[in-house]
Amino acid sequence: MGKCKYCHRDAGWFQHSHSECEKKYNDGKLKLRNILMSCFSNLQDFYCREQEINEIISSSYIDEATKEKIFVDVLDDVIEKYLEDNIINDAEKQSVARFIQFSQIPQAILNQHHSIEKMLQADVIQDILNGNKPSPKITIAGNFPFMLSRNETMIWLFRDIIFYEQKIKREYVGRSSGISVRVAKGIYYRTGGFRGHPVETTYMQRISVGSVCLTDKHIYFSSPEKSFRLSFDKIINIDTYSNGVGLQKDGANSKPIFLEGINSWFVYNVIMNLRHV
Ligand SMILES: [Zn+2]
Repeated sequence: MGKCKYCHRDAGWFQHSHSECEKKYNDGKLKLRNILMSCFSNLQDFYCREQEINEIISSSYIDEATKEKIFVDVLDDVIEKYLEDNIINDAEKQSVARFIQFSQIPQAILNQHHSIEKMLQADVIQDILNGNKPSPKITIAGNFPFMLSRNETMIWLFRDIIFYEQKIKREYVGRSSGISVRVAKGIYYRTGGFRGHPVETTYMQRISVGSVCLTDKHIYFSSPEKSFRLSFDKIINIDTYSNGVGLQKDGANSKPIFLEGINSWFVYNVIMNLRHV
C-alpha cells in the first residue's frame, strides 16, 4: 500500500498521493503567492496577513522547503517587476526589506538569487543617472587582479565570467565542383585557381574564464590565459543577451567579444551612461 506524500495516510496500491490532497496543496501554494503579491502591490504590511498565511500553510500540506521556494520566487518576481518600468524607488525598497524580515529567507539563499544583487545594481545606476559618484555596497572576497588608475572608481566585480572572441574560419569551396579552364599554350594557372575560393564564416570561440571589473571608465577582464581593458569611449556596440553581453570595440581589426554570465542590463546601463561620445 502506498502512502500519500501529503497527508501520509494510505493512498492505495501504487499511489503516492490522493488527488484531493494534491489539489489542496496546489491551491494553497497559489493562494499564498496571491496574498504575498497583493501585499506588495497594495503596500500592505505582510504581518497583517500573517494569521491567514499560517492557516493556508498548515491546511495545505505546505512544508518548510515549499514555503521558502514560494517566498523566494515571489521576491524574485517582485524585484524583476519593479525594475521593469524604472529604477527601484524608496517605497519599493522598503517593501522588499520588510518582506525579507517577514519571510526570514536565509541570507545564503538570498545570495544565490540575483534579484537582491540587481537591487544594489539599480542603486548604482540611479547614482550614475543623478550624476553622482557611484558607491556600490559590495565587498570583495578573494583576489582582486586589477590595477585601476588613481582617478578611477570601481563599480562592480563579476566572478566566473566566460570570455568568447569571434574567430573567422576560412574554407575553400569549389574544389570538388570542377573548374573549367580553357586550355591555352603559354598561360600559367596558379594552383590557387584550382583550389576554389575561400568562404569566411565566423563563430565565437571560448577563450577563458575569469573576473570582470567594471569601473566608471573601463571594463576589465582578467584570467590566466587572457586579460584586457576596454575603454567605454571605444565601445561602439553593446548587445544584451539573457546570459551575457556582446561588445564591439572601435577599429577595423577589433573582433566582437562576448562575456557570458554577466548581467547585461547592468553593464549596458553603466556603459551607456558613462561614455563620453
Ligand atoms: Zn492524502
